[in-house]
Amino acid sequence: MNRLTKILTALAITFGCLAVSAPPADAAPSYNTWRTDVIYIQDTTSHLKGKDGRERWPVREAARLWGHSSPLHFVYGTSPCTHRSQCVVVKEVTMPRTTTGTASTTWWSDGTIRGLDNGTRPAEVRLASWWGKEVDYRTRQKTACHELGHILGLAHRDHATRNRDKSCMVGGTGATHYRPTAADYRLVKTMYSANRG
Ligand SMILES: [Zn+2]
Repeated sequence: MNRLTKILTALAITFGCLAVSAPPADAAPSYNTWRTDVIYIQDTTSHLKGKDGRERWPVREAARLWGHSSPLHFVYGTSPCTHRSQCVVVKEVTMPRTTTGTASTTWWSDGTIRGLDNGTRPAEVRLASWWGKEVDYRTRQKTACHELGHILGLAHRDHATRNRDKSCMVGGTGATHYRPTAADYRLVKTMYSANRG
């Protein structure tokens, strides 16, 4: 299969983070990653507050955490990304009470991740308003961290490790681990060196 054929095979992936459904398996034979290691964020939620008066969605902090000791770098901002940059728009939207957030990208068979519609639109993180209004700050931190992890290409932490892994990538609404772990950083490092060079 030549490169042109391969590149035409794209799959839009939305990780819906449901309270009850089983997470997808972690064990993928290969990774899809963004083509370059700098990803811009347009956070449209920065003006919103939680019931505690603190920011409703700690997106800036989550972006900083994922960039910590990792080859990947999120550049946080609140205004639209530069034209044609690797961009993620973060929005708060009305969602059914079974969903706390989603992360949507397009995954290509050549191993790359783009924004939606062949990269003509940014990737999207959608955060549920009902959730943001009801849960505490720590839980909101978890959700922001979790959805940005999906944007990087990470799946849910699997059931075998979920009880001893304090990663924000553990699925479901029960866990409130609010940041990536050393295991996440190792995985990101693996992913973001595997498809390079
Ligand atoms: Zn999820």
